[in-house]
Amino acid sequence: METHLADFIRGTVDGDEAEAILRRCVHCGFCTATCPTYQLLGDELDGPRGRIYLIKEVLEGRPATASTRLHLDRCLTCRNCETTCPSGVQYGRLVDIGRRVVEERATEPRPLADRLRRTALREGLTRRWLFDPAMKIGKVVRPILPEALATKVPPKTRASRESIRPGRHARRMLMLEGCVQPAMAPQINEATVRVLDALGIEVEVAARAGCCGALREHLVDHDGALGNARRNIDAWWPFVEGGVESIVMNASGCGAMVKEYGHLLRNDPAYADKAARVGELTRDLSEILVPFTEALVAKMKSPSPRRVTWHPPCTLQHAQQIRGPVEALLGAAGVDVRLCAESHLCCGSAGTYSVLQPELATALRDRKLAHIAATEPQAIVSANIGCITHLQSGTATPVLHWIELVADALTTGGPRTGLFPGETRQAGRVRKGPGPKPIPDPRRPL
Ligand code: SF4
Ligand code: SF4
Repeated sequence: METHLADFIRGTVDGDEAEAILRRCVHCGFCTATCPTYQLLGDELDGPRGRIYLIKEVLEGRPATASTRLHLDRCLTCRNCETTCPSGVQYGRLVDIGRRVVEERATEPRPLADRLRRTALREGLTRRWLFDPAMKIGKVVRPILPEALATKVPPKTRASRESIRPGRHARRMLMLEGCVQPAMAPQINEATVRVLDALGIEVEVAARAGCCGALREHLVDHDGALGNARRNIDAWWPFVEGGVESIVMNASGCGAMVKEYGHLLRNDPAYADKAARVGELTRDLSEILVPFTEALVAKMKSPSPRRVTWHPPCTLQHAQQIRGPVEALLGAAGVDVRLCAESHLCCGSAGTYSVLQPELATALRDRKLAHIAATEPQAIVSANIGCITHLQSGTATPVLHWIELVADALTTGGPRTGLFPGETRQAGRVRKGPGPKPIPDPRRPL
């Protein structure tokens, strides 16, 4: 695509990057067919090709109108279009630049209510000292909350009674706890620690690390996102120098962001090298565990005859281009893992999207859940706290992180109960209840 950038952006870091990306686009439109918002709205400007064109126009000096901003706001940043694109257009990076420029040059400000909502999300979700107590209160008063709010608050979870003695293993990995995950679903980090401990790996957590920065980046607070990245690098660097093997991510949204640190800080002389090293060390939990599949299965009590549908988050399958390890791990453990139709499409969670674009997010969630229901799972498993909470808000079927299933099946497993309907755990054994009827001809739409 030919480009003629305007003076205000030509020759800048963002301008050069955007121009290089734009020039790869041949306007073929293949990406449009796999764009969730285009599928819902049927408007070219709510698909990737249209959004790319809108960004190009603004970078070439056309006014950034409220309508331009709306079409960019409606983008989930799911990056499905990147997976589809035959020309290697890095749409995710382009839309981040486009949003920043549109925000700065908008011909009219955002409505006050929108600004307040975005500020509350940006400042509230990324600070654990604010979010943790708010979520604790939310869980207590959940039964009396209005339904729209109650669906955003997960029920109280029972903390594991098992404690893992530190300093047992020579192999060490760092884990990012996340900003909202410890309060919303503490069992995910607990399960991660238990599984890695069973494999002889010590999990360490840097107390000063916090939000990965993805929430701020998607809310167009680029400087704040870079600040989060620098703070995490500072917190992790002593552990990196101390020889940790990897930095483990059990929320794929955080993993996608941290793997980008090297790119985001490439022009910061104080942080560029460290950021690149941190990015290299960062692994999704599934990438870490795949080489241990045999060892893990050997430690499980028995093959698990459970039937689950795997919802691969966009940040795993499109942003990180990781497909297959979770299915392989659970499959090796005897779990009947299914994919639903349109498994490549976003569930509508997309960070803060489900709050900022509730109609579209709910439509995508319900479409996803209908496809999942057709596979008749006992539970849905995913790999990102956002997807898990969003999907759970629309179904009574349990939605879990896949690592909970692995941790539950291990001989070292703690006394978890009620992972699946119809099962109760007694004296460390899984006792099968009546459960759902077996399916004579299981479908596996792959
Ligand atoms: S598929 Fe790629 S090259 Fe084709 S229009 Fe979409 S972004 Fe451009
Ligand atoms: S990131 Fe997702 S929603 Fe946005 S244009 Fe690409 S496919 Fe569509």
